[in-house]
Amino acid sequence: MSEQTRPVPKPDRDSAYYWAAARRRELVFQQCNECGQFRFYPRSVCPFCLSEKFEWHKSLGRGAVYSFTVIHRAPTPAFRDRVPYVLALIDLPEGVRMMSNVIGCDPGSVQIGMPVTVDFEEVSDEISLPVFRPE
Ligand SMILES: [Zn+2]
Repeated sequence: MSEQTRPVPKPDRDSAYYWAAARRRELVFQQCNECGQFRFYPRSVCPFCLSEKFEWHKSLGRGAVYSFTVIHRAPTPAFRDRVPYVLALIDLPEGVRMMSNVIGCDPGSVQIGMPVTVDFEEVSDEISLPVFRPE
């Protein structure tokens, strides 16, 4: 992969449904049919009880910043035009925590506990990345 190209997720058997939903601007999580726990990232086996039975649930996509950092130095040239940007851990009411970006605001204004809502950034013909904006 060229360093000039932003890395893009490659859907696999476990994540294909997740990425197809994101393309439709829907944030979905797997919920275990045995223990009821939600999980992220997508995988075939529940990390809590090892069950392979699950269903997909659409999230409202409203959460809160658990933690964050502001990236000032691009990790590769592909990110040069994005700095400074916010890399954050977002807690969602389903009980999952996901790494994403907080966009649409001054990076200096982001705070722990800040309410955010999901948005989707189209990064290729197939992939839309879930990102979050301040509510
Ligand atoms: Zn389970």
